[in-house]
Amino acid sequence: MTLFCKQCNERRLPIVFAKDKPPLWLCGKCENFADGVDVIIREITKEEKEDIKKKLDDFENNTSLNGEKLKRRKGVN
Ligand SMILES: [Zn+2]
Repeated sequence: MTLFCKQCNERRLPIVFAKDKPPLWLCGKCENFADGVDVIIREITKEEKEDIKKKLDDFENNTSLNGEKLKRRKGVN
């Protein structure tokens, strides 16, 4: 299962690179990506690591404000 890393059993996180493509699954411990059938694609780059960390930090900041989740607007576009 892609949800867990077969090397270390840590949970993988789905990282979306392009909206029209399926996410790649990142193991933060092994620092590599697997595809939807658990085939390891490649290792994470330094830039990606920083970018993803920033996104996760933003996500946590956005969702922990007063314990309220930001509502997604419907009908955008
Ligand atoms: Zn792993």
